[in-house]
Amino acid sequence: MGIIPKALKALTLDLQRLPGIGPKSARRIAYYMFTLPQSRLEFLSQTIKELQQSVTVCQFCRLLSDTNPCEICGDSARNPLEICVVEDNMDVFAIEKAGTYKGVYFVLGGILSPAKGIGIDDIAISALQKRVNDVLKQKNNGTVEIILALSPSTEGQTTSLYIKELFAENEKVSVTRFAIGISVGSDLDYVDSFTLQEAMKGRIKVE
Ligand SMILES: [Zn+2]
Repeated sequence: MGIIPKALKALTLDLQRLPGIGPKSARRIAYYMFTLPQSRLEFLSQTIKELQQSVTVCQFCRLLSDTNPCEICGDSARNPLEICVVEDNMDVFAIEKAGTYKGVYFVLGGILSPAKGIGIDDIAISALQKRVNDVLKQKNNGTVEIILALSPSTEGQTTSLYIKELFAENEKVSVTRFAIGISVGSDLDYVDSFTLQEAMKGRIKVE
């Protein structure tokens, strides 16, 4: 026996698994949802149900998008020879909000973490390699700049180093990072646009 009805308890537990939602917020949201009209709840559950069918992955940068290629890759004003490598979709939003970057992206979908059992095959490293080779093939005399915007954590550094080594033998590829060490990775979303703009003004070679 409990004072929270079973269905509300189940919903609370589900909501609690979402990022950034603690037990108290989860319970508040669950009780709030109970007060919504049935039609609103049906609309909400339908939206969730169709989420994976309606969203597609851009074949070039792996950004979640309504279209394939995504809006950024499909924009002829963007430079396809500058590829900013980020951990997830949120990082792209943060950099786009700063509004100064005119290249394209590549979303790795994670970073290497031996402790969490995340290896090379679990993130899109081979897809990145293929993407870079495809761009080089398309732009015969071009050189690609890979701008690493990964977290400064040990995992982020391991991943950056791995990517740098991967292209070390290719003289048509340079690997750089933004000049000022900003807290990138999943934290990028919290960095204000001005700091990002300053950081993106210069790029330095990854050694
Ligand atoms: Zn794209």
